[in-house]
Amino acid sequence: MKRILLLGGTGDALTIARRLGHDHVYSLAGLGRLPGDLACSVRVGGFGGVEGLQAFIEAQSIGLIVDATHPYAAQMSRHASAVSALTSVPCWALRRAPWQPQSGDAWCEATDFPSILDSIAPYHHPLWTLGREPLAYLDEIPPSQHWTIRCLDAYPGNARATIIGARGPFSLDGERALFTTQQTDVLISKNSGGAATEAKLRVARERDLPVVMLQRPRLPPVEREFSDTSSLLDALAAWLDPYPLFDKTP
Ligand code: NAP
Repeated sequence: MKRILLLGGTGDALTIARRLGHDHVYSLAGLGRLPGDLACSVRVGGFGGVEGLQAFIEAQSIGLIVDATHPYAAQMSRHASAVSALTSVPCWALRRAPWQPQSGDAWCEATDFPSILDSIAPYHHPLWTLGREPLAYLDEIPPSQHWTIRCLDAYPGNARATIIGARGPFSLDGERALFTTQQTDVLISKNSGGAATEAKLRVARERDLPVVMLQRPRLPPVEREFSDTSSLLDALAAWLDPYPLFDKTP
């Protein structure tokens, strides 16, 4: 038996998990919804650092680590790469290409939270789409601003912040309506790449609005890197041969 550990947290990872049979393990941090309809085993929560991940890989006889985590989940990627070096279990990664600005786009790149705050200082209605991070700054919102923060779950806001709990993918019309109702004048985003959350960038483009893009973290080298799910699935099928990727027998 050849066993795959798939590290997930993205829609692409779920696409791969749906193609894995019961021998394989899909691992999630536990931030998003848990899929209940998969043939492979699903485990949730941290492993306990490099040591815990190494112990898991050895105990479960994992033969291949597939890192399909979010591009900003760099710690998990670093741990996977470190454990691969310690155990000689190969690590492959799905690394989505970043979005690229198009002609006329006013994007500026920010390296950290303080530089984002500097960049948005001239604006009044920032729309935050970074996840939960801005929630830690709710008491520091300047009087000239009202923040809209979109993250996975709704939280109470305050007089200067509206917090919207929503999970992608997001439609173009839905994003247009959000920008209008929230009077968005600047968008703050991660450079996640992919189609699921790209519509907000189109709306910013249509309205000539600036975008502050949080720089991607550096990710560790891996044995093989893929930019799309179909080439990764082909490689997984070849690696598993003569076993099938999806084995229906219980
Ligand atoms: P992280 O900083 O890379 O990971 C922190 C810890 O969470 C890891 O060290 C690991 O704990 C655990 N973890 C992460 N992914 C895991 C997985 N697939 N299976 C098991 N454990 C996992 O990532 P993060 O703190 O979750 O998020 C960092 C950034 O990525 C945030 O900006 C977040 O919004 C974005 N993001 C993350 C996810 C996600 O599913 N993680 C999804 C979308 C966006 P141990 O060290 O204990 O093993």
